This record gives sequence, structure tokens and C-alpha cells, in this order.
Amino acid sequence: MLKDLDSQYVLPTYARQNVSFVSGKNALLTDSEGKEYIDFTSGIGVVSVGHGNERLSRAICDQVSRIIHISNLYLIAPQAACAKRIVEQSGYDMKCFFANSGAEANEGAIKIARKYGEVDGSVKRYKIITLEHSFHGRTITALKATGQEAMHNYFGPFPDGFVYASSIDEIEGLIDDHTVAVMIELVQGEGGVQPLDREKVQALAAMLKRRDILLMVDEVQTGIYRTGEFLASNLYNIEPDVITMAKGLGGGVPIGVVMTSKKDIFAPGDHGSTFGGNYLSTSAASAVLDILEEYKQSGELDKAFLYFEKALTKFYEAHTDLFTASVGFGMMRGLRAKDAATLAAVINNAREAGVMVLKAGRNTLRLLPPLTITKEEIDEGFARLEKAVAAL
Ligand SMILES: *Cc1c(COP(=O)(O)O)cnc(C)c1O
Repeated sequence: MLKDLDSQYVLPTYARQNVSFVSGKNALLTDSEGKEYIDFTSGIGVVSVGHGNERLSRAICDQVSRIIHISNLYLIAPQAACAKRIVEQSGYDMKCFFANSGAEANEGAIKIARKYGEVDGSVKRYKIITLEHSFHGRTITALKATGQEAMHNYFGPFPDGFVYASSIDEIEGLIDDHTVAVMIELVQGEGGVQPLDREKVQALAAMLKRRDILLMVDEVQTGIYRTGEFLASNLYNIEPDVITMAKGLGGGVPIGVVMTSKKDIFAPGDHGSTFGGNYLSTSAASAVLDILEEYKQSGELDKAFLYFEKALTKFYEAHTDLFTASVGFGMMRGLRAKDAATLAAVINNAREAGVMVLKAGRNTLRLLPPLTITKEEIDEGFARLEKAVAAL
């Protein structure tokens, strides 16, 4: 049995559900028993253009049949092309560094901040302020940047210089002569789909600019049209100094990127990655960006967002006995369950009923469908969610 093989040879870092998927078509997945599911998770915001996307798989196959990887010691045409697409779609005057995951992209952001603090004054500025309930990744430094003390158990000692603010209002009071950057998610994902207030973020951005402190936005989950615009930073109408992306960028192929307006921050040798930005991952990302840019420009993406929002609102309003709020933007949505036990039961029943949903924070039902989800798939997914809550 697969479950036995997994538990015999794979370290048990995940509380895995006993189901394995064998095929997918957009937002529809089929498991090894032949049961079908509507996927409202997209592999935690990764499979942005759906499962089995033909245009993406053709682009990947075309590339891997020629070159998968050379190394960053040589010019890489798909990497340069992908960087151009990311920068142009963002609308920011920046340059990119490619990594392989969200945590690694954030490591790059932290290194940018640390070097910025070194070269720009007599006192070394090194402190980075992050928010409580944030999530920035699992490497030792990204974990320390993550403002959730419970996740820090066992793994110290950590690098110095991370300071946690309990809310955006508290950030300014925590700044001292050693502060070099503030790193935030505009909508906290893992922390429970918590959007920050737009006016407060704009005021924070202006204050940081005045004080020459970098604003670094972790868009690993919010980026690549997840919240409706290419970046949540576009939606919030701010100009960060550093932005990281990962999840939705490669459509499932591992890739992370950090981009910055501090274009001269790194010199050769300051940072690097063996796999980062290789032919495979950057040609996949460019195909994803092609697909989603067209989808956005044709108006289809906004139509899908509206349709999803309408279906979600209808579901929420019919079940205010179970849920206390509907939160989020675009296709990054949450319903606050009245308690953790209710949420666990809903998620379990949903799987039984053939729709996959996620948990975030303590009690939030999180929905991150593929951005290409169809109206029929949305209707079917919510019909199954209705069944799931009816069976409570
Ligand atoms: C998922 C996530 C990360 C970590 O990404 P990995 O690819 O798992 O390293 C970092 N920041 C945010 C906001 C995320 O949602």
C-alpha cells in the first residue's frame, strides 16, 4: 500500500490525508479509486493555470527535450525573457534573482536588506521587522522571519535581527537606528487569510520611504494574479523596494524570484543558486505568465473572480451559523469558522463530498482555486460544499 511505503521511507513532516491523485484536468482531480474532486486548493496556490494545462505542458516538453539545465555560469535565454515578463507585468522598475522556492526567495530578500544596511551608512543596519502570524518559509532564517513563535521550537539558535510587530500600527514604534527593512504579506495566507488595511499600508510605505527603510513584500502566495492584479502590491497601489514571488509562478514547476528596485545591490559572488532560473523553470514560468496575462487582458479572469465571489457569498450567507466572516480578494479567500472543531468537520466532509479545501490560521477555511477554474467547476464545487455542511 502507498500509505505504508510513504510511512516507511518518507520523514513524517506532513499530516497527510490517505488519498492519492492520479490525474487532473483544470480544477477537476481524480484519485486512485476513480473518485472525482473539485480542487479549491490548487496545490496551495501553485497550480495557477489548472492541472494538465496543455499550453504549459507543451512549453515544458518543448524545452526539456532540448535543454533542462546548464548553469548560471552562462547566459540563459529563457531566464532573461522570464525576468523581462515579470518586471513588465509588475509595472515596477526592478531586476530579478531566481531561486527555487518561496523560502529561498525570501532568503534573497533578507540578504538584499542586510547588504543594503551595510553599504549605506556608518552604523550597520540589520534589523528586519515582520508581523505576528506571518509566514515566510521554513529555512532557518525565513523561519525566524516568520512571526509565529510556536514554529521556532527546537530549531534555535537563529540569526539575530528579527523583530515582530503585533500589527501594522506597531511597526513605526519598533524602528531604531539598526532597522533596515520591514517585510510583510499584504494578505497573510498561512496566518489565516488576513488582508492588511490599504490606507495603513500606503501610510507605512510613505513613512518607510522617508526613513530610508526598505519595504519588502512577500508575494509568494498573493502574487501572479491571485488577488486580482498581477501583484497584491499593484492592488494596494504601493511601490515596494523588494518583492518575492513563488507559488503560482511556475504552475507547479518549482521556482522562486526576488526582485528589487535596488538594481546594483549585488555584485558577482554575493548570491547564487545552482538550479535557480534554469531552462525548465523559467520557460514554464513564461508560459504561465503568457496564459494568465491573456486571461486577464481578455477580461475572463475578472469574470471568473466575480463569479467565484458571488458563489462564495451565497454559500457564506446561507451558513452564518457556521461562519462569522468572509475575507480575502480575488481567488485568495477565507471563511472564518465559528470554531476549530467546526472547521475540521467541514474540511473532512468536503473531502468526502468530493471538494478539496484548505485550513489557514486557527479557524479559517481557505479557498485557493486554480485561476482558470470554470463556472461549471465553481458551481459543482459549491454544490459539493453544500452537501458537506448539510452532513455536519
Ligand atoms: C508558502 C509561502 C512561503 C514559503 O514558500 P516555500 O516555497 O514553501 O518555501 C513563504 N511566504 C509565503 C507568504 C507563503 O505563502
